[in-house]
Amino acid sequence: MLKLKLDQVAPLQRAAAIAATETCFAGLVLPGGAPNGERDYVVADLRPVPDDAYLVRTAISATLKPEFCSHLANQAKQNGAGVLLAHTHIGNQPLDGFSVIDDGAEPPLAVYFNRRLPGRANLAAVITAQKIHAREMGPGPTQPVAFVGSELVMPAQPSSRVDGKFDRQVRAFGEDGQRALSALTVAIVGVGGTGSVVAQQLAHLGVIRFVLIDPDKVESTNLNRLVGAATSDIDRPKVNVAADHIKRINAMAKCQVVQGDVTHPDIAATLTAADFIFGCTDSMASRAVMNQLAYQYYIPCIDMGVAIGTEAGIVMYIGGRVQMLSPGLACLVCTDKLDSEQVRREMMTQEERKKDRYIVGEQVSQPAVISLNSQVSSAAITMFLSAVTGMPAGARMLTFDAMRGTVRPVAADPRPHCIVCSPEGALGQGARWSLPTRGGTR
Ligand SMILES: [Zn+2]
Ligand SMILES: [Zn+2]
Repeated sequence: MLKLKLDQVAPLQRAAAIAATETCFAGLVLPGGAPNGERDYVVADLRPVPDDAYLVRTAISATLKPEFCSHLANQAKQNGAGVLLAHTHIGNQPLDGFSVIDDGAEPPLAVYFNRRLPGRANLAAVITAQKIHAREMGPGPTQPVAFVGSELVMPAQPSSRVDGKFDRQVRAFGEDGQRALSALTVAIVGVGGTGSVVAQQLAHLGVIRFVLIDPDKVESTNLNRLVGAATSDIDRPKVNVAADHIKRINAMAKCQVVQGDVTHPDIAATLTAADFIFGCTDSMASRAVMNQLAYQYYIPCIDMGVAIGTEAGIVMYIGGRVQMLSPGLACLVCTDKLDSEQVRREMMTQEERKKDRYIVGEQVSQPAVISLNSQVSSAAITMFLSAVTGMPAGARMLTFDAMRGTVRPVAADPRPHCIVCSPEGALGQGARWSLPTRGGTR
């Protein structure tokens, strides 16, 4: 699958509809995760080629100068990337797919780029006002295309029959929305107070494939808020309890359970096979991993947090936050929600922790109430539905203040040179960069 940045592609499609001549675009292709053993490609930055790069440019064909191809190959080589060469088919009734001309023009390009960039993914694409078609340059196998941004537009699903039990929600977001839900692999990182609610709601909604990640076992003090857990579950891994609950709701569900910490490099790597991630932990270190993963691999994540602040036993603050992390949206660094000092501490081993003079004692247990967790989790699920089914609920960051009784949308712009969400940072780097896991370097 080829993953493209939604806000970069939509303008190209509009341009294709009104342009008088064919336009070419070039981008660098990096390997992403490998869902279901298929290869996954992330395109870091797709730009129009400069006007002086064309040898020939008409309404129905465009040929690029060898100097430009050489320059592009050098750039890709330096960045450990392959190339994507895309071109438009213009007009209101364009050929929706690769043409015979494309089939003829591609082999020499494939020979050139595969020789200059051996072992890299070199791709070709056709952009029309309606669709994008992609394949390995050659012509090689067709690649499904996904668009990732404030929405996640996955390749269209074959129009299979939708189960009647979903009738009431299909009336809200349509049969295509229901099919989109059932085709996704959704990871939930942390299946405690908020994650157990997220798991339950996703199961009811008809999500089938889950990746559940949590290192902890159920304790008696979790039972006030761990949805789906009973006294008999004490000492069982939380991921198993969540998987059982999901399967009680939908026997068709498939749950991959991982009892471990997402800051471990191998466990973080399992997340690259997900299409969508819910961040339901209260650790800064795991947030740092998911935040980077969302932009680096183009895997949208909805991060949430609930806090009840007390001073000397008096409640001073009750609130929460839900934020979608995805290319084009501000990341947790840009919204100042990652405390780098706390990330550093959480990444420490027990030994390092003992030696660190800034850490005094262990963390005190924080207050936690099921109604507040559920409220924030539900807001996250509604945001998810909007992102994957197109249900009109536009907010991508919300703050919740229970003391005032308000839920407010927050506007946040990505910072231009952000180390995570800008093209100068992790954005679209795929497997070329490491994630900020324990022992990971970039
Ligand atoms: Zn063409
Ligand atoms: Zn950022």
